[in-house]
Amino acid sequence: MDLLLDRPALSQVQTVSRNGLKKAVQDYLQELRSAILAGERTEVPALDQVEQEILRRLEETEPFHLKRVVNATGVVLHTNLGRAPLGAEAAARIAQIAQGYCNLEYDIEAGKRGSRYSHVEDLICELTGAEAAMVVNNNASAVFLMLNTLAKGKKVAISRGELVEIGGSFRVPEIMEQSGADLVEVGTTNKTHPEDYENAISQQEATVLLKVHTSNFSIVGFTESVSVRQMAQIAKGNGSLVLYDVGSCFLFPREYIGLHAGETVTRALQDGADVVCFSGDKLMGSTQGGILVGKKELIEKMRKNHLTRMLRVDKLSLAALELTLRHCLDPREACEKIPTLHMLSMSRETCTQKAAALETALSGAAPSLHIGTVLTEDEVGGGSLPGVMLPGCAVAVSSCAVSAQRIEQQLRLRKTPIITRVWKDQVLISPRTLCDGDQQELMQAFRELEQLIKEERDTK
Ligand SMILES: *Cc1c(COP(=O)(O)O)cnc(C)c1O
Repeated sequence: MDLLLDRPALSQVQTVSRNGLKKAVQDYLQELRSAILAGERTEVPALDQVEQEILRRLEETEPFHLKRVVNATGVVLHTNLGRAPLGAEAAARIAQIAQGYCNLEYDIEAGKRGSRYSHVEDLICELTGAEAAMVVNNNASAVFLMLNTLAKGKKVAISRGELVEIGGSFRVPEIMEQSGADLVEVGTTNKTHPEDYENAISQQEATVLLKVHTSNFSIVGFTESVSVRQMAQIAKGNGSLVLYDVGSCFLFPREYIGLHAGETVTRALQDGADVVCFSGDKLMGSTQGGILVGKKELIEKMRKNHLTRMLRVDKLSLAALELTLRHCLDPREACEKIPTLHMLSMSRETCTQKAAALETALSGAAPSLHIGTVLTEDEVGGGSLPGVMLPGCAVAVSSCAVSAQRIEQQLRLRKTPIITRVWKDQVLISPRTLCDGDQQELMQAFRELEQLIKEERDTK
């Protein structure tokens, strides 16, 4: 071990820490020992050879823990894979702002302290028709800030059908309790009527009505819920507030994307919601962020809440958000330049063409595999538009020599992992969610698979 660590080629490796290097050496030596004990090896390789092998392995491993992966699952907003990918222009904006100083909290005209909340407010207002807007760290923060500022110590009526859990740790009843709001449950799990809110106001003294979009499931069958519009009509007569956590939404009519579901903020505000909040990295297709829009006086109150300092948005997110919002001013440009929207608007026809081209390319790289195409139902994901399926097409891969599970694993455990799904003993690769450069990774991976199959056949 010491001899190896002192060898110039190994001690000068830049891509791993000293401990990482030690671990690589230890792992390899342990493998050698086991192979010798098991009788698979009869002699110890020369130090040179050992060194070369360790160097080769270090070369093959990605030094960073957080790394690029290829999303071939067809799930557009994959929560485990970092939700919305950014386009080249948004990524370049982040790089530009990151590599120097910026006017994050500096008013250039006045030559004095400015506000980080000023950079995107006008754009958001223009796009949504809101009186005022602000952005915090994520939508969970936005909901918390909204409740803590506007509903603390007040009775807040919410439908039993909307007391949901989103993404494991975000549970509406608990968030409400921690924010200081006093929960008043109305209606039942499947049906809530306008009278339920009216009664909550008149009999239980509720002064805030909260609507939460049930983003990650849909109840079908015998159901009824009260729209924001109806809630606003009920609230208006009593001077109550209507707050709406829409979770995920578009900033322009969804028809541009070819979808028939998905709320727009403009609509929610027109319908009479006092404050609406949503995520920056779901259907908006930008970076992590929580966007709050609504009445000026209410947004102003939130801005003054001390919690805002703890939930504040960072400059890199703002940089990408500003660019994404500018794209949204022209819906056609947005669908082209915002990867999430581009992927969502991809028709089955386009997916089929892309899958056919990919099938040809991958068959060339791995002639021993069975490669074809199948029609798929791709998903929006990310707790957005539950139940909406995107008609797509995928490349389907299988082999007589190795199982689909083995292929899936082989693709996943690469330096640049390729994440796929297995369906009916086939590995599916959806062109819908591939990003720039992913096809080259796939080609390389398929050459490696071809090698694997050859080795399997030789040993049999
Ligand atoms: C996703 C979601 C949240 C949480 O948003 P984050 O940006 O992940 O913090 C809250 N409410 C609803 C309805 C959601 O869909």
